[in-house]
Amino acid sequence: MGAVSEPLIQWFELNRRLLPFRQEPSAYHIWVSEIMLQQTRVSAALPYYERFVAELPDPAALAACDPDKLRKLWQGLGYYSRVANMQKAAQIVCRQYGGQLPADYAALRALPGIGDYTAGAIASIAFGIPAPAVDGNVLRVFARLDNSSADITKPAAKREFTARVLEEMPKERPGPYNEALMELGALVCLPNGAPKCEVCPLAAQCKGRAAGRAEQLPVKTAKPEKTLVPVTAALITGPQGVLLQRRPSKGLLAGLWQPFAFEGTAMTQPELDAALRTIGLCVQWQAPLQSTRHVFTHRIWQISGFCGTAAGPAPEGCVWASRAELNGEYAVPSAFAGIMRQWRPE
Ligand code: SF4
Repeated sequence: MGAVSEPLIQWFELNRRLLPFRQEPSAYHIWVSEIMLQQTRVSAALPYYERFVAELPDPAALAACDPDKLRKLWQGLGYYSRVANMQKAAQIVCRQYGGQLPADYAALRALPGIGDYTAGAIASIAFGIPAPAVDGNVLRVFARLDNSSADITKPAAKREFTARVLEEMPKERPGPYNEALMELGALVCLPNGAPKCEVCPLAAQCKGRAAGRAEQLPVKTAKPEKTLVPVTAALITGPQGVLLQRRPSKGLLAGLWQPFAFEGTAMTQPELDAALRTIGLCVQWQAPLQSTRHVFTHRIWQISGFCGTAAGPAPEGCVWASRAELNGEYAVPSAFAGIMRQWRPE
């Protein structure tokens, strides 16, 4: 093994966290965990992971799962298009590969929702294929190790660091090497603040540390400012529960359920009332809702609105949901969690 990989893998073997997907590292388990961990901290993702693989233990179960149930299992994790893509990929895996993820980097990479990083992680950890798995943690470790000022948001820098990852990779142990790099980035070579160089197995050869620049690295172009989007919500309750509206089947939060809402506009109560009357909803208004905010990747929703009561059949595309149905059946995005919490027991 090499000067980087040997101390790194030794450190990993002694210090790695015992995580459920490491105990049974099947390709399916690694896939599910990597998709979840792209968006969520390990501690927050673990209960979701356990529930997901208990309900859907293999690609065949994922492929056949009712989409509403799937969204409910994912509720709270956000980025719902990721789980929709996982289901499409699982269906291809069942049709083309007999229900098992293929032991081939290019074939994995061709599946919906599987990018370079996830394909590399599955290929190397589950199948021992010497493929790189370069995420933000790995970019940071190599930028510091090499004292490189390359901007890691640029594709050229990513290519450069991917080549470095491959150069240092022991071809007989690609999985432990990739996992060790990710783990070092998560536990020692930390983002946002001082890395723990005093316990780092690579400290002796780290050029960023020697130059006193580790904390300033990696170089990253700042992300563009997020757009603030007003949203008006109507939390309408009645004898049959709370009124939920199904979101369109394409686009942001596709197919999920929400309180009645209008995006892109901050409406007054009379304006909201008029809009709802056009679809036959006659609401007894009670009080303004406490406004909430939800931050997406590119935008921020500023949600305000009103609560009220109504009766009668639900308009088209809507349902009345009891509290039990809301908890067990209907997936409501976290963006509306603060609004739904304002549904008080009658
Ligand atoms: Fe990161 Fe410090 Fe280790 Fe260098 S020595 S790789 S900066 S933790």
